[in-house]
Amino acid sequence: MTDQVHSPEWYLNSEKLTLEHLGRLAVVYVRQSTLQQVLDHQESTRIQYGLVKRAAAWGWPADRIMVIDEDQGKSGASAENRSGFQRLVTEVGLNHVGLILGVEMSRLARCSKDWHQLLEICALFGTAIADLDGIYNPSDYNDRLLLGLKGTMSEAELHLLKQRMMQGRLNKARRGQLGFSLPSGYVRHPSGEVTFDPDEQVQQVIRLMFRKFEQIGSLSGLLRYFVEHDIRLGIRSRTGINKGELEWRRPNKATLSCLLKNPTYAGAYAYGRRQRNPRTQRPGHPASVRQAYHPPDCRVLIKDHWPAYISWQQYEWNLAQLSSNQYRANQPGVVRHGPALLAGLLHCGKCGRRLSVNYLGRGLYHSYVCCYLAVHYGEPVCQQLGGIALDRCVTEQVLMALKPVLLQK
Ligand SMILES: [Zn+2]
Repeated sequence: MTDQVHSPEWYLNSEKLTLEHLGRLAVVYVRQSTLQQVLDHQESTRIQYGLVKRAAAWGWPADRIMVIDEDQGKSGASAENRSGFQRLVTEVGLNHVGLILGVEMSRLARCSKDWHQLLEICALFGTAIADLDGIYNPSDYNDRLLLGLKGTMSEAELHLLKQRMMQGRLNKARRGQLGFSLPSGYVRHPSGEVTFDPDEQVQQVIRLMFRKFEQIGSLSGLLRYFVEHDIRLGIRSRTGINKGELEWRRPNKATLSCLLKNPTYAGAYAYGRRQRNPRTQRPGHPASVRQAYHPPDCRVLIKDHWPAYISWQQYEWNLAQLSSNQYRANQPGVVRHGPALLAGLLHCGKCGRRLSVNYLGRGLYHSYVCCYLAVHYGEPVCQQLGGIALDRCVTEQVLMALKPVLLQK
């Protein structure tokens, strides 16, 4: 130890902090989880920045105190997408950091995996951790135990918070009072009451959609009908300055499928139709892939809750019809049996979409078709090319390109 004069805390904590720590950076990690919290908890942010003074009191010169506060306003359930936390881990891993300071340190990583990763790496590089309660040395067994416990407790706390919030939503949904966005054909009044859309034409389009689907029996057929007659869906804007105003949008296959599957039209209040499937979820996209459940598997299902466009029987019939049609659509679109040489390899020169193969005459002839717009938007086919001539042309080109190689051998 040097003869330098330190503040009283220094002497209290000198066991945990050594010159080796002082020689490296002191990192003050500031975080608040959501934007609302940033606004509400100015005080907490002030305390967090106060840690800079504490580090100075423990002997760190101002130029070796670093503040990382990039995570302001980001939720902390996981360190993914949180560059501040990643930067912290990187700095520790480069042996630049002697001490990390934060308010309730375990909260900086709300996911236990992140927290233990940080502890592990701090133990390896002899980095100390400090919060408002004290200083910890992650390579010391007792400190490590305490830090681990703190991490577990904040994870449990987060879990309880989430559960309470979910339970609240679920209870509200069970009473049919949880509001969610309604499909075309309905409006929610400021009083909370839900009625048919007052615009007569919007109602007519929805009724027509169900009538035609019953007659035609397929989604593509229904789409073609809509396109041929230039029928558009009346959608009320949900956000922005035009909120609540009517827009007429051309339908596509996905929209029509969603509408036909929506139990609201049969008068049912259904909550929890889409539930997260952790196996298909892509990292960083919390709500990206959600498996849709049919009404019997919904969390809450209250029949005869809203005014209905169709009966429950017709709704079930529609679902059955859609899934029986889907069998064919589910076939893989990649290379299949058949003589087409270039299946899955060609892209349309006009619109850039992948060409699909059409077999004719029991598979004797084939052609390459750009039909994306035709299938999804009911527009005419973009272009079509004879398969046999094209295959022959490409074969000749490939063989020609290979010839010199063969000769050289
Ligand atoms: Zn095309």
